[in-house]
Amino acid sequence: MTDTLAGASPVDQPVRPQRADLVPGVVHCARCHFRLTRVNLYVNVGAVGAGNSDTEPCPNGCGPLWPVTWEQEAREGYKLAEDLFERAKRAEDALRELVTLEEMRLRLRSLHERGHGTDYEQYHKGLPKAWDAARAVLLGPNV
Ligand SMILES: [Zn+2]
Repeated sequence: MTDTLAGASPVDQPVRPQRADLVPGVVHCARCHFRLTRVNLYVNVGAVGAGNSDTEPCPNGCGPLWPVTWEQEAREGYKLAEDLFERAKRAEDALRELVTLEEMRLRLRSLHERGHGTDYEQYHKGLPKAWDAARAVLLGPNV
């Protein structure tokens, strides 16, 4: 008989009461937002399960890691979805403006080639702003 449970299957593990409002195996630091996800590997049965949600010191030395509640998880997930949507919208807007300007340039060139008078002022005015907006999305924070 061994006194360790290493290698035991999930079925062999003692049942510890877990709070229903906690995300199993996930703890975070309230100060630096470090997030730790604990996963148990049960090699003998090839299974994976959530680790515990016990508190431990933050590896960045700023305090304890606290269990994450399902409400926090949902709010963070919703915030992330909103941020990603806003980033996608800014990228679409920037791309749409660049495509519009390219179509304008091609139309102006066609008019010029057919001997019509052309005015590139709006094109030359809009192009740097459109590139700046596109670069801001690409080089900005990835949320
Ligand atoms: Zn921390």
